[in-house]
Amino acid sequence: MIAAPQRLSGWGGVAVESCRVARIAARGRVAEMIAQDFPTGQLIGRGLGRAYGDSALLPDGIVTDCTGLDRFIAFDAESGLLTCEAGVSFADIIKVFLPRGWFLPTTPGTKFVTVGGAIAADVHGKNHHRVGSFGNFVEWIDLLVADGSVVRCSRSAEPELFFATLGGMGLTGLILAAAFRLVKVETASVRVRYRKTPDLMATLAAFEAGDAGCEHSVAWIDCMAGGAALGRSVVMQGSPATRAEVASRGDPLQLPVRRAKAVPFTPPLSLLSPLTVKAFNATFYGLHADIEKLVGIDSFFYPLDAVRHWNRLYGPRGFVQYQAFFPRAESVAGLPRLLDAVVRSGAASFLAVLKSCGEADGGLLSYLEPGHTLALDIPYHPRSVPDLCRRLDRILLDHGGRLYLAKDSLMSAETFRAMYPRMDEFLTVKRRVDPEGRFVSAQARRVGLAS
Ligand SMILES: Cc1cc2nc3c(=O)[nH]c(=O)nc-3n(C[C@H](O)[C@H](O)[C@H](O)COP(=O)(O)OP(=O)(O)OC[C@H]3O[C@@H](n4cnc5c(N)ncnc54)[C@H](O)[C@@H]3O)c2cc1C
Repeated sequence: MIAAPQRLSGWGGVAVESCRVARIAARGRVAEMIAQDFPTGQLIGRGLGRAYGDSALLPDGIVTDCTGLDRFIAFDAESGLLTCEAGVSFADIIKVFLPRGWFLPTTPGTKFVTVGGAIAADVHGKNHHRVGSFGNFVEWIDLLVADGSVVRCSRSAEPELFFATLGGMGLTGLILAAAFRLVKVETASVRVRYRKTPDLMATLAAFEAGDAGCEHSVAWIDCMAGGAALGRSVVMQGSPATRAEVASRGDPLQLPVRRAKAVPFTPPLSLLSPLTVKAFNATFYGLHADIEKLVGIDSFFYPLDAVRHWNRLYGPRGFVQYQAFFPRAESVAGLPRLLDAVVRSGAASFLAVLKSCGEADGGLLSYLEPGHTLALDIPYHPRSVPDLCRRLDRILLDHGGRLYLAKDSLMSAETFRAMYPRMDEFLTVKRRVDPEGRFVSAQARRVGLAS
């Protein structure tokens, strides 16, 4: 039942641990299996391993692979309420429900995440400014807690546990199943307006001017451009396309077939050097024109999914994603400081993404509130990147910002405490349902969330 230790990492490949993995497949038997096979040890849930750092790693406990919990349980075609097991992936949901005219209410930049992982990180998409995080659409969660019981928590039943579990990174228990709302779509396309902006202030102004009128909004930022071009971007603002708009294109709910490419192995060195990234960024920026067009849901929401294992391009050292949130009042001052520090460091950040954010959803450790979030991929080097991240952390702290646990690999306990003011509320709930601290991850130990 529990496999021999294996090397396991997050998506960024920086944190690597030797972990024992238990794969669970029947939610009715999970409690019994845990009681039998590891009655006292520590454990942590894992989905598809798309968190970048060590949040689904546990070197001396059991990593519980939940991807075998992959059953749909019920769907209400009136309200869009889907009930399913926690290992169902967003890709599975799209495959089954998009042809019937339903889509995810919000989605991260990859569809290879599980429902359990999406709830545990309280993920957000390009529409946070309009709808907030995934948690806003979750009606209830079935959670296996440390004493072996399954608790159904929601906004009305066990609300403290519900809001600790949304964004709680698996530390309150194992999510076995959940019910959440899908939204209706007429087509599998998005009508997107692309606009180039010459600098950061113009990018923020484009968000300000266009966000209210569109469902999805994101800017790709050229993080290799400094000086007057600091923050130059391609802003993409879109809304679900109507049937009338795609009338001549066959079945409007059919996704175009994309031939999956793959990076077959990890090259001995990162292929993303400052030179290659600079050339890519300049070409990407240069090629984009100010246009409006229809784009398939796959290409708009999941451009990186077109290349399987693209993370291998970073070579054996891997990469970190630094995702920084600035509250709205601080964005204008904080974002240029952060970007400038990145440009000056020479760290080659390829595909940096900026989004505007709306209201928080009440999750005690949930990440976003009104403001902006900037995500940067940085090739890892042990001699320079931890120092750079500490410098960036200081800028973030100066402006009341925070880092995203789902992307973090390096944050210290002190920094975490300063960034997450509801940490103690979270720990109070955790201690109530998990007094012996059975649910823990390598990340939780590092940032001080292992009670
Ligand atoms: C290319 C890419 C783009 C991304 N874009 C975004 C984005 O735009 N917005 C965003 O919010 N995130 C984004 N992410 C991050 C991703 O959405 C989250 O890390 C998500 O949690 C991954 O889900 P997973 O199933 O892979 O979970 P894992 O990575 O396996 O685990 C993540 C966390 O969830 C917990 N967990 C998983 N399953 C369970 C369970 N059944 N019960 C309890 N805890 C569980 C784990 O313990 C861990 O703490 C992106 C990631 C990638 C690789």
